[in-house]
Amino acid sequence: MSDKNEMVLEFDSKSQNESFARTVVAAFAAQLDPTIEELADIKTAVSEAVTNSIIHGYCDKPGKIRMHCILENGEIMVEVIDEGVGIENIAKAMEPLYTSRPELERSGMGFSFMEAFMDSLEVKSELGKGTTVIMKKRIGKYQSR
Ligand code: ATP
Ligand code: MG
Repeated sequence: MSDKNEMVLEFDSKSQNESFARTVVAAFAAQLDPTIEELADIKTAVSEAVTNSIIHGYCDKPGKIRMHCILENGEIMVEVIDEGVGIENIAKAMEPLYTSRPELERSGMGFSFMEAFMDSLEVKSELGKGTTVIMKKRIGKYQSR
């Protein structure tokens, strides 16, 4: 599959939209004919990124989350973008078990899951400006191309 397919979605920073966001990405990704497991991986990763934007980026206050997805050459790229507080130390935030909100009983494993379930993870962030998480995953049947 060499033709590119792109979509953008914007929704409110509300926890009710976590499942909406992951379901939309799964429906879009379905065009690549992923396995159930690949779809589950993508949904988990999207869920973690969107949850982070809601609880950390916007601290549960109103805001907008944008999701940008591209399907191309058997690969899905998902960008989750918020204009929230941003991350001061990205490397530290990405360490397994690091959480800035232990009082919320967060385990600090969100970025580790995104890394494990996707092929690549990139985090861009600026304090006071927001955070962009870019994840890519190649879908199995296209692996050899
Ligand atoms: P868990 O995901 O296991 O519930 P967590 O959200 O704290 O816990 P990660 O998802 O790995 O763990 O994120 C690590 C830390 O990175 C967070 O505690 C937070 O400080 C910071 N962070 C992550 N995403 C964002 C974001 N969109 N905006 C601001 N800070 C973020
Ligand atoms: Mg998290």
